[in-house]
Amino acid sequence: TTKPLPYKRVLLKLSGEALMGEGKYGIHPPTLMGIADEVIEVAQAGVEVALVIGGGNIFRGVAGATEGMDRASADYMGMLATCINCMAMQDALEKKGLHTRVLSAIKMEQIAEPYIRRRAVRHLEKGRVVIFAAGTGNPYFTTDTAASLRAMEINAQVILKATKVDGVYNADPKKDTTARRYRSLTYMDVLKQNLNVMDSTAISLCMDNKLPIIVFDLTLRGNIRRAVLADGDIGTLVG
Ligand code: UDP
Repeated sequence: TTKPLPYKRVLLKLSGEALMGEGKYGIHPPTLMGIADEVIEVAQAGVEVALVIGGGNIFRGVAGATEGMDRASADYMGMLATCINCMAMQDALEKKGLHTRVLSAIKMEQIAEPYIRRRAVRHLEKGRVVIFAAGTGNPYFTTDTAASLRAMEINAQVILKATKVDGVYNADPKKDTTARRYRSLTYMDVLKQNLNVMDSTAISLCMDNKLPIIVFDLTLRGNIRRAVLADGDIGTLVG
């Protein structure tokens, strides 16, 4: 199509759980491959794509082991968990012919480049999909905060926050049939009503820097493309 792209550069935030399919933890290869296909679709449309992937699917499995541990140590384990997911996603994307780079906030020279902002931007300009690993590299943060921070640093025009429901609702749509989806919300609405979009640190960062967030349903095939290409009425826009 000749329609201009609504976004030139996007940051897609996936939770670790997004990779586990119907499983209780770990990575479900067909689910991983399905997401990779969708990322490829938008990258081939000419959109520069950066990914932040959480670690919940791996970290959950070791959560018992972190009981009673120092918060900081447990958080570092969580950050390492994100690296496992990032490497799996890198492999999936490269199997399908895309060029990718994993940039880690914690140095692991044998498996990932260190995170260097200017290098990330250069990779994106060259059409490589950049995968940010190890969150922000700091305990007491989340991968949602990492997504906001990195999106700002690389001048992404939007954060696409993948979830299991089609946007933000005024009640739980799985329990309440009268629940309605918000088409748009302000950052303040999200913070004041404690709506489940991203944690408050991540939302505040987006608010202060006027970075829009689209909350959308990843479980519906083709939705990454729909969100990135603004194709139809999808999800909730926080801005
Ligand atoms: N984490 C952290 N600092 C960061 C990013 C992540 O300490 O900058 C830790 C934190 O313990 C978190 C875990 O890594 O619980 C996994 O990330 P998250 O829970 O955000 O993953 P998701 O829920 O998106 O899968």
